[in-house]
Amino acid sequence: MRVERKQSVVLVPFLLQGHLTPMLQLGSLLHSQGFSVIVAHTPHNAPNYSNHPQFVFHSMDDGLQGIDMSFPSLVHINCMNKNCKEPLRNYLVSMMEEEGDQLACIIYDNIMFFVDDVATQLRLPSIVLRTYSAAYLHSMLTILQQPEKYFPFEDSQLLDPLPELHPLRFKDIPITTVNNTVQAPLLEFSRSMSDIGSSVATIWNTMQDLENSLLLRLQEHYKVPFFPIGPFHKMVPVASSTSILQEDNSCIDWLDRQAPNSVLYVSLGSLVRIDDKELIETAWGLANSDQPFLWVIRPGSVYGFQCAEALPDGYEEMVGERGRIVKWAPQKQVLAHPAVAGFFTHCGWNSTLESILEEVPLICRPFLADQPVNARYLSQIYKAGFELEAIERTVIEKTIRKLMLSEEGKDVKKRVVDMKQNIVAAMQIDGTSHKNLNDLVDFISALPSRLALPMPVVGAIMSSNHIASKCIIES
Ligand code: UDP
Repeated sequence: MRVERKQSVVLVPFLLQGHLTPMLQLGSLLHSQGFSVIVAHTPHNAPNYSNHPQFVFHSMDDGLQGIDMSFPSLVHINCMNKNCKEPLRNYLVSMMEEEGDQLACIIYDNIMFFVDDVATQLRLPSIVLRTYSAAYLHSMLTILQQPEKYFPFEDSQLLDPLPELHPLRFKDIPITTVNNTVQAPLLEFSRSMSDIGSSVATIWNTMQDLENSLLLRLQEHYKVPFFPIGPFHKMVPVASSTSILQEDNSCIDWLDRQAPNSVLYVSLGSLVRIDDKELIETAWGLANSDQPFLWVIRPGSVYGFQCAEALPDGYEEMVGERGRIVKWAPQKQVLAHPAVAGFFTHCGWNSTLESILEEVPLICRPFLADQPVNARYLSQIYKAGFELEAIERTVIEKTIRKLMLSEEGKDVKKRVVDMKQNIVAAMQIDGTSHKNLNDLVDFISALPSRLALPMPVVGAIMSSNHIASKCIIES
């Protein structure tokens, strides 16, 4: 641990749970290395300040009060990127007046791409945080380079392979389509998100040992230093809660009453929504599998329903003590529990890493963004899980039994144990993530003071002119 450093870093997270968590974890990592950490966040899903007394927090007005941001649309995200420029700029200016050259850099989630403009204007170095796998960004970039090669496609092509993106198929393209084609605003957003502007480096919540060749290819493209220092949740010296929703800890007592290695944990993360048909098929698949299960049904995650009312009548009574349903679980604790044997997941990157690091094999039911890519890598390359081939109760039942009871399930478990061991090696003193973290600390410490940086290019000055006009959305 380095304690003499007095420099500060400003972190700008994106508000969704899967993005906020890694940014706060990165903050803890940098704080443990002696940096002062300031978190400039938007009002929706504001972090719980009392869980991070070591950070300074600053709330930026994004002009989106009263808007439901549980599943932000592109319009909302673009609006946020526009509206936050001025508040961030003003905050940084006042901070620089107070702190002088102590502010080393700004680290921002790639969805908050406005930060690059502000940083350029103020001649502050900025660094991008990628909260997902290199495999995802690689596939995204490949598609963005030639979108006409992929869109539109026919339903009959869904299972056709994409050799240059092996092991992906058309079905796994990580850009949301409407009628198998992509809308121009989504392409534009994907470009903004993958672009790094004038940022000087990229931090990754992944590991060189897992994704080295893809990281190298990406680095050739971006031509800035990469710092893969994952898995953040295990690299942090002290884990603080980053949960936005209230965790129901009673499920740990329930897990304590289950046999070792017997429970399937089911959760589709913080964002995904399903229809009631899928809820019912899943419910019967779980019930008919005869395996104990802990199932997270998040409020608002079933279209048209508050929470679990769409379950078949009398379902919870019928399942009895064998099943437990909660609204939100302390997931890392659940996955670390000796009773848990498998994870039925949407394959969000945090969930993926949390599962592997607890040696829990997966059943992959991906929906959007990076999830299909993670699911394909998990099932086809790492062989750490099984893909769910159809959302039908019989298929769900069969896949659960395969994971929990079969020889194939045992093989998958072995693969997860191997993966974990490789990742743990990366975290050791001479491991890649550990070394990359040291390099990152040195890199930030050696960044030139802002006065030594070149004046902003004309394009950046031009784009800062937009600061004055605010984007307004009616709630
Ligand atoms: N999570 C949790 N309790 C739950 C479900 C999820 O604490 O009941 C956490 C989980 O540990 C993970 C995050 O929410 O850190 C979800 O992030 P991920 O990238 O897996 O998916 P997303 O929510 O972004 O789709």
